[in-house]
Amino acid sequence: MNHTIAEVVVVGGGPVGLTAAIALAGAGVETALIAMPAAVTDNRTTALLASSVTALDTLGVWNRYADQAAPLRRMRLVDDTARLLRAPEVCFDAAEIGLPAFGYNIENRHLLAALESRARDISALTFIAAKAEVVTTGESDVSVGLSTGRRITAKLAVGADGRRSLCRSAAGIETESRRYPQTALTFSLAHARPHNDTSTEFHTESGPFTLVPLPGSRSSLVFVVDPADAPRLAALSDADLATEIERRSHSLLGKIMIEPGRGVFPLTAEVARRFGQNRIALVGEAAHVMPPIGAQGLNLGLRDAATIGELVVAARREGGDVGAQDLTARYEHMRRADVTSRSLAVDLLNRSLLSDFLPLQGVRGLGLYLLERIGPLRRAVMREGVAPAASQPRLMRGEAL
Ligand SMILES: Cc1cc2nc3c(=O)[nH]c(=O)nc-3n(C[C@H](O)[C@H](O)[C@H](O)COP(=O)(O)OP(=O)(O)OC[C@H]3O[C@@H](n4cnc5c(N)ncnc54)[C@H](O)[C@@H]3O)c2cc1C
Repeated sequence: MNHTIAEVVVVGGGPVGLTAAIALAGAGVETALIAMPAAVTDNRTTALLASSVTALDTLGVWNRYADQAAPLRRMRLVDDTARLLRAPEVCFDAAEIGLPAFGYNIENRHLLAALESRARDISALTFIAAKAEVVTTGESDVSVGLSTGRRITAKLAVGADGRRSLCRSAAGIETESRRYPQTALTFSLAHARPHNDTSTEFHTESGPFTLVPLPGSRSSLVFVVDPADAPRLAALSDADLATEIERRSHSLLGKIMIEPGRGVFPLTAEVARRFGQNRIALVGEAAHVMPPIGAQGLNLGLRDAATIGELVVAARREGGDVGAQDLTARYEHMRRADVTSRSLAVDLLNRSLLSDFLPLQGVRGLGLYLLERIGPLRRAVMREGVAPAASQPRLMRGEAL
C-alpha cells in the first residue's frame, strides 16, 4: 500500500517521538510513526526527573527498564574553580522534600529499547521504518513523502526529527541559535568506591564535570571542556583517560575503569521561534536544544510529547480538527514559558562558569550560599526542579490521557 491515512503522523523515532507516538496511539489516536533505523548506538545516559518517570510509568514504559535505571537520591554541586570568589558546596537530598529520589539515570539504549517495545504493542500505532523526505502542508491536512515512495497523510504532523528538523523547515519556522566555546565528552565508567546514589557536579572554568550514578558501581560522565582540549582528551588510551578522570574527580570514586563508547558533542543552544503552525507541532530537539547541564533537554522534550498528546486527545473527544490552528497555537502557549525559563537558567549557569567577570561569579556564589543556608529556599528549588510549576501535563501527574 503506497498511501497511508492516519490522524497524526509523528516524524522521528528518538525518545521524544516514541513517547509522543505512545501517548497518542495509547489513547486510541490512529498514529503513524516514521522512524529511521539508528546509524550509530547512542552511548549517552539520561537523568530522568521524577515527573518524567511518572509519565513513562503511566504510559506503560517504566516497568520495562526500571531495573536498568539508578536512583538519584542526592545531588552535590562542588565549585572546583581556582577563582577568587568560590561558591560553597551544596548538597540536595530528595528525602528533604519527601521523595525517594529526584529521578533515575538510564542508558539511552535501554530507554529507547523499552520505548520501542511498548510502541510495538499498541494496535493504533503503525511503525514505518523510512526516512521522511518531503513534508507538504495544506489547508486541511499534512502529507509526508518517504524514502520508500510511500506517502502518509494526516491532520497533524508531530515533528520529533531532532535538531536539523525537516518538519520545522516545512512549517516555515526559524530558530535562534548560539554556539558555546565548549565541547562535552561523554562515556560511562566503572569505579572502585560506591557512588551512594549521589550525582556530583564539579564546576570548573571550562564548564561542569558531572558524574551521574548507574546501577552497581558504575557512573556516566559528562565532561565539558575547551574545544581545543577535546581532541587530545578524546584520543587518550583508556588507562590514561582513567588517570585523568580520577585526578579531576579528586579520587571521589576511587580507581576508574573506562567503558567502551565515547561521545563528543559541541555545545549549542537553539530555540524555535514558534513551536507549532501550519499543521505541524515541534517536540524535543526540533523545538529546543540546550547544553547538557542540569539534565533538562529530554525532560523538556517529554513534557512537549505529553502536552501535544493531551491537546490532541482532548480535541478529538470534542470532535474537533486535531491539526487546527487553535490547537497548535495552544501548544505554543502551553510550552513557551517552560522552555524559555529552563533555557535561560541553563545559559546563565553556564556563562557564570565561563566568565571571568567577578560580579557574575559573586552572584553565582551568593546564590549557592543562600541555597546551602536557607532550607525553605533549597526545598522550593528542589521541588521546582522535579516538577516544574510552569508545566505539569496530565501524564506527569500520573493521569492517563
Ligand atoms: C552529552 C549530552 C547529555 C545529555 N544528558 C541529558 C540528561 O541527562 N537529561 C536530559 O533530560 N537530557 C539530556 N540530554 C539531551 C537529550 O539527549 C536530548 O534532549 C534528546 O536526545 C532529544 O531527543 P529527540 O527525540 O528530540 O531527538 P533525537 O534523539 O535527535 O531524535 C531525532 C530522531 O529523528 C530521526 N530523524 C531525523 N530526521 C528524520 C527524517 N527526515 N525522517 C525520519 N526520521 C528522522 C533521527 O534519526 C532520530 O532518531 C543530553 C544531551 C547531550 C548532548
